Amino acid sequence: SQVYLNGAFMAPQEAHISPMDRGFLFADGIYEVIPAYNGVLFRFDEHLIRLERSLAEIAIHNPHSREEWRHLCETLIERNGGGNLSVYLQISRGATEKRDHAFPNPPVAPTVFMMTGAIAIPAADSPDTASGSKAITLDDIRWARCDIKSISLLPNSLLRQQAVEAGASEAILLRDGFVTEGSASNVFVVIADTIITPPKSHAILGGITRDLVVELCRSHHIPIEEREIPENQLRQADEIWVTSSTKEIVPIIQLNNAPVGDGKPGQVWKKVARHYVNFKRRLCGQ
Ligand code: PMP
Repeated sequence: SQVYLNGAFMAPQEAHISPMDRGFLFADGIYEVIPAYNGVLFRFDEHLIRLERSLAEIAIHNPHSREEWRHLCETLIERNGGGNLSVYLQISRGATEKRDHAFPNPPVAPTVFMMTGAIAIPAADSPDTASGSKAITLDDIRWARCDIKSISLLPNSLLRQQAVEAGASEAILLRDGFVTEGSASNVFVVIADTIITPPKSHAILGGITRDLVVELCRSHHIPIEEREIPENQLRQADEIWVTSSTKEIVPIIQLNNAPVGDGKPGQVWKKVARHYVNFKRRLCGQ
């Protein structure tokens, strides 16, 4: 396999970064994960718009134009054999001579790292045989700017680990009694045939998959609302889903060891999963 670091493609064991890099010392950087199906980047512009926004929010100079980013992503995909892959892309504020919380002045060149990962076959690809996943609820212990796709993922990591130790695959987070999102996903519930997802704010990452699900529901006249979800509505929901770029739409069939609805992936999920997969195939083939 090959990775990309600061202008060159290389084997992963050849990629070296200074311990003085602010990504290492302060988690001072941002990232993106862009899926490719059949070697074709999916929702590339949407991911790049979010990347540009994350960089602007933390005042890191964007080292590449959108077309340059696209070329780098496509080259990396090609060099890793194409097919279904995710592209991980990270930009940190760069390496400095001394450790100082304040930004280097004048600025140094940001560090750019990219690698690919495998994508497991998502549940949405086979809605009739999908088995669903388990989740637990936990207190959202993160900072107040979760809309920035920061590489500072210690809270997310601690929360996910707690879920794994409880035998679940995702932690659904609650802040002041309301659902925010998952440790690495956005959350949807279905109550009386209406789909509900929390509105975008500083409390959640604006998921590219989330936005596409909202868009698909609107274009197919499936009722969907963007509004806050109190904890009791989460517990009583007929369906719960979590969404992310690499896992698409995953039905949650158990919450805190209690069945969600009848304990099987729901009918509304099946319908939306089919729209999602059709949309993906139309764009990327297969
Ligand atoms: N929220 C968080 C905290 C995440 O880490 C992710 C996945 N990166 C998401 C939501 C889902 O975002 P997307 O659909 O763009 O992958």
